[in-house]
Amino acid sequence: GAFLPPLADVVGADERVSLLDGSSVLYANFDYAASAPALRAVADGLLAALPQYASVHRGAGALSQITTHRYEQARETIRRFVRARADDHVVFTRNTTDSINLLAHCLGERGGDVVVLDIEHHANLLPWQRLPGTRLVTACATIEETLAALEDELAATPAALLAITAASNVTGEVLPVTRLASIAHRHGARILIDGAQLVAHQPVSVVSHGIDYLVFSGHKLYAPFGSGVLVGRGDWLDEASPYLAGGGASAEVASGGRAQWHTGPARHEAGSPNVLGAVSIADACTALSDIGFDAIGHHGHALRERLDAGLSVLDGVRPLRIFTDSAGRVGIAGFAVDGFSARTVACYLSDHHGIGVRDGRFCAHPLLTRLGYPAGAVRASFGLGTGVDDVDRLLNALSELVSRRGTIERK
Ligand code: PMP
Repeated sequence: GAFLPPLADVVGADERVSLLDGSSVLYANFDYAASAPALRAVADGLLAALPQYASVHRGAGALSQITTHRYEQARETIRRFVRARADDHVVFTRNTTDSINLLAHCLGERGGDVVVLDIEHHANLLPWQRLPGTRLVTACATIEETLAALEDELAATPAALLAITAASNVTGEVLPVTRLASIAHRHGARILIDGAQLVAHQPVSVVSHGIDYLVFSGHKLYAPFGSGVLVGRGDWLDEASPYLAGGGASAEVASGGRAQWHTGPARHEAGSPNVLGAVSIADACTALSDIGFDAIGHHGHALRERLDAGLSVLDGVRPLRIFTDSAGRVGIAGFAVDGFSARTVACYLSDHHGIGVRDGRFCAHPLLTRLGYPAGAVRASFGLGTGVDDVDRLLNALSELVSRRGTIERK
């Protein structure tokens, strides 16, 4: 195979970890889908912003003005990155989960049914399950049949919202966002796209895909934990009561304590915001645009081909797939290894090889159960800081594990 180095510098790439035998190795991070390491450019931006950090929004001081400017600029950078409409709201939240709960709060007040698939991450399932009119559609064996099932569901009973993931956090399979949006719109519904697993891998255009609401997290986009975004149409957001009540959301509070609320993003951002988190997301957007999604796509594709090919020749390694006709995937490989529990695989990789994968049910219990892995599976996920050497290291470690089947664990 061709030499394929990491595409970008990420923090933590030189971290060493100890193995059970007492030696130490470089940590190989195969858990980008949970939280990706910060890009060096993002970390540098964060360190540069720290000394100039002062109160946001109401401070008159020069550093307060800089901080406020950076925070508001971050919205515009993100708006451009996802090609949002000029009048869309870009609301800062804590993460994807928070963004979806915010929209669910708004829809809960408005009323109207929500349709979701059973392949969703719990973040795009449980907030809707709290609303009375949520309907779960079981994904079919193919994407084509799944789209037809969604169309039938919406045609039979109107809904206000179709809430679907753009890429499965279990298998990496990418769903056809533009077609999902057309289906929703054809039946008078809006669409929410959970972009948590897509935005780091493929360009997303709110306008050309026809997305009404897009949500994602900074920590899966090479920015640190603690900030996320809801981008989308302002009307439902402005009509709802504030998601959080407090300073910043209120335009005027009478002496009796009754508030008049702002419209716009401020309505749902009460309390001092995570400015550095917001700035970091914007810096990550800029860094990804600089690298370019052509290069990002090529890098991801090459690593995925290598990983898939390597996994396919390992005895008793079974890839997880939802669809038989999936067109594309992001940098995620979910799999199970015959004869070993997922936990054993993950611990073996960590203890003997310094490789970090995820095991379990990936906050997608209904999907794991339906795919036949109620006790969980293994997920290796990668990104810009991953090179072909890392993939080969993972494959060699798995090959070693498989060759010891029957000696390590009997099931
Ligand atoms: N949706 C998907 C598809 C995800 O993969 C995740 C994170 N695993 C989430 C939502 C939730 O993201 P967060 O934990 O940042 O809220």
